Amino acid sequence: MQPQVLGRLSVSKVMEMESGLPLPMVFPDITASDLARVADWCDYPGLADDPATSLMTLSMHSFVIALDGQNILIDACNGNCKQRALAEVHMLDTPYLANLAALGLTPDDIDMVMCTHLHFDHVGWNTRLENGRWVPTFPNARYVFGKRDYEHWVTQEEEEVHRQAFADSVLPIVSAGLADIVDVEAPTATHLEIGDGIWLEPAFGHSPGCCLIHAQAGGAPAVFWGDVIHHPVQLVRPELQLMFDHDPVKAAQVRRGLLARIADSDTMCFPAHFLGTSAGHVRSDGDAYRYAFVES
Ligand SMILES: [Zn+2]
Repeated sequence: MQPQVLGRLSVSKVMEMESGLPLPMVFPDITASDLARVADWCDYPGLADDPATSLMTLSMHSFVIALDGQNILIDACNGNCKQRALAEVHMLDTPYLANLAALGLTPDDIDMVMCTHLHFDHVGWNTRLENGRWVPTFPNARYVFGKRDYEHWVTQEEEEVHRQAFADSVLPIVSAGLADIVDVEAPTATHLEIGDGIWLEPAFGHSPGCCLIHAQAGGAPAVFWGDVIHHPVQLVRPELQLMFDHDPVKAAQVRRGLLARIADSDTMCFPAHFLGTSAGHVRSDGDAYRYAFVES
């Protein structure tokens, strides 16, 4: 897959794995007409005419931004060898680091890791197992975590799979002194600049503190929207309830607001779970939206 080049930015995708879940389990209110509407513009894997026989297929991947000699890794997938209270991601053994190497990068080459939020499938490769201990996978990187998510998982006890991930993939980074826990609600700005051309914006809803990551350097803007939008069907019905959203009402408002803002612009989108090239543009389509994937 070719990197997407936007001015001085170049963005590459690092695959971890693909998985699938029954579609109605994730979107309880989904209808056949929603699926027909997606089928108008996209033959998306897993979707059939009937929601009951459809799968929500998910890609788990990171993006690496190369900018002015720095390599910034966005979202860290599930990780290997992790004990998880969810069979699909328990004790994985994926070739993620080999896929990173195929881009010509070793873990030592990563200068910054940014997690859009602290769910288990976005923090896993922050650490790897070495002699029975969880150590930073990217020892030369600063790791950027949002304060609101960080504080949530310090105290919450309900969601076991996220709690496990926080313990083995976030806390060891803090102990190693590599974490920058940033307050995106600081009074100084709604946009928080992280280095040259990359900044965070609050997008709370899917998780208590999830953020958008924006990047722009001499070309079209890029947005890494994490899990604000999981699947193309959310473009035809942004209000569709998603079982993984922490605050479904807020999450839908954020989704609708983002789509309205970037539709029909040159903003290149980098969704955390779309299949294929993942990257693309949002186009308006009546009262909703469609997605135009980049070809390669
Ligand atoms: Zn996710």
